[in-house]
Amino acid sequence: MQHRIIVLGGGYTGAIAAGRLAKRLRREDVAITLVNAEPDFVERVRMHQLATGQDLRPRPFSEMFAGTGVELRLAKVTRVDVDRKTVTVTDADANGADVTAPGSGAEELAYDTLVYALGSGWNSQAVPGAAEHAYEIAGRPGALRLRERLTRLDAGQTVVVVGGGLTGLECATEIAEARPDLHASVVTDGGLGDWLSPKGREHLRKVLGTLGITVHEHTTVTGVEAERVLTADGTAVPAAVTVWTTGFAVHPIAKATSLEVTGTGQIVVDGTMRSVSHPDVYAIGDAAMAMGPGNKPLRMSCASGTPAAWQAADAIAARLTGGKLPNAPIRYFNQCISLGRKEGLIQYVTADDRAVRAVLTGWPAAVYKELVCKGAAWGVANPTLGLPTRRRRVTRQPAAAGSAVKASA
Ligand SMILES: Cc1cc2nc3c(=O)[nH]c(=O)nc-3n(C[C@H](O)[C@H](O)[C@H](O)COP(=O)(O)OP(=O)(O)OC[C@H]3O[C@@H](n4cnc5c(N)ncnc54)[C@H](O)[C@@H]3O)c2cc1C
Repeated sequence: MQHRIIVLGGGYTGAIAAGRLAKRLRREDVAITLVNAEPDFVERVRMHQLATGQDLRPRPFSEMFAGTGVELRLAKVTRVDVDRKTVTVTDADANGADVTAPGSGAEELAYDTLVYALGSGWNSQAVPGAAEHAYEIAGRPGALRLRERLTRLDAGQTVVVVGGGLTGLECATEIAEARPDLHASVVTDGGLGDWLSPKGREHLRKVLGTLGITVHEHTTVTGVEAERVLTADGTAVPAAVTVWTTGFAVHPIAKATSLEVTGTGQIVVDGTMRSVSHPDVYAIGDAAMAMGPGNKPLRMSCASGTPAAWQAADAIAARLTGGKLPNAPIRYFNQCISLGRKEGLIQYVTADDRAVRAVLTGWPAAVYKELVCKGAAWGVANPTLGLPTRRRRVTRQPAAAGSAVKASA
C-alpha cells in the first residue's frame, strides 16, 4: 500500500516540500498530493511589484511538477481533522475562489502524513475601518485589487502605507518610484528602520527622501476611513488609498484542530518541523512556530521557510525509510529589502536575525535582491538544488493517529 502524503498549500514552502519528497521517495511507495487554491505558483515576495503594474512570470504547477509524480489538486482546504487524519476540500477556480456546485458538497482526503503549509494573509489587527477601507498586498488577490485602484488615482492624490516593516517599505518605495505623480507616505509606530544598523537606517532615509516619501514616525494608526487614517495623537492623515502592511496572520484552520498551536494559531513544531502534539503532521513556513537560533521563534519569511521546508521533507523521508534525520540549524544571513527597482538595502544579520554593521546599498543591492527573488522561485522548481538524489524505499509504518510525540531537535 502506498504511503499517502498530503501537502496543503503550494507557496514557497509547500511546493518545495512536495517536490523534494518526490525526489527522495520511490514513486511506487508514496502518493504525494499537493492541494492548492490556485493553479500556479505565486511569487508572494513580489506582490508590491504586481500591485504597481509589473507583470510577473506565470509559473503553472502543471509545468513545475510535470513528470515528478506529485499529484496536483486545485481545491480550497476548509477543514483538517488530525484525529481522523482527513482534510476537507472544496473545488476552487483559477483565482482560488470556491466553486463547489450547489449540492455536490465537499470532499474528504485521507492522509498518512500531512504537511501543513497554508501560509498567511494580511493582519488588520482589528483596527476599526482597516478591513473595510484599506488595501493589502499579502497575496495575489489583494495586490491585484490595489493595482486596479492605483491606476484610477489622479496625479497629486495621496497613498498612505501603514507599517514601516519590510513589506511596508518595499510597498511605499515601489509605489513612489512607479507613480512619482502621487504623494506616498509611510506611517510607522516605531522609528524608521529602527532595527537596522546605523548605515542601513541612513541609507533608507536617504532613498525615501529622494523618492519624496513622507515619513510619520512614532505614530500609531487607530482608525481607517475612506479618505484618511486617524492616529493616536488625534491627527488625521489624508489618504485616497491606505495600504495596510502591519504584519501577517495565519489562517484559522489549524486553530480549529486538536493540534498544539500558539495563541495566534501557528502550529508548534520541533526542529524537524514535526508537530509537537501529532507525529504525522508537519508544519512549515508562516503557518508554523519553530524555534531558531538563540531560541527565538523563526519569523514569517522565505528566508527561514525555505530551509524549514527542506528540513521537513528530509525528516519525513528519513523517518519513512529509516535514514538519518536532518539536523542542519536554520539561521539568517541577511535581510534583503527592495527600495523600488533601482535601489535596495541588504542588511547583513547575525544567525538570530540581528543587524550587524555591514550593509550593501544602491544598485548592487537592487540587483542582489532581484537575484534572491529569482533564486527563491528557481529553488521551488528545483527543490534539491539540482543535486542528484536517490529515491529511497519506504520501510516504516506511519505513526498511529493522534498519538503524542515529544519535541526533539
Ligand atoms: C510583499 C511581500 C514581500 C515579501 N518579501 C519577502 C522577502 O523579501 N524575504 C522573505 O524572506 N520573505 C518575504 N515575504 C514573506 C514571504 O512571502 C512569506 O513568508 C512566504 O511566502 C511564506 O511561505 P509559505 O509557504 O508559508 O506561504 P505562502 O507562500 O503564502 O503559500 C501559501 C499557499 O497556500 C495556499 N492556500 C492558502 N490557504 C489555502 C486554502 N484554504 N486552501 C488551499 N490553498 C490555500 C495559497 O494559495 C498559497 O499558495 C514577503 C511577503 C510579502 C507579502
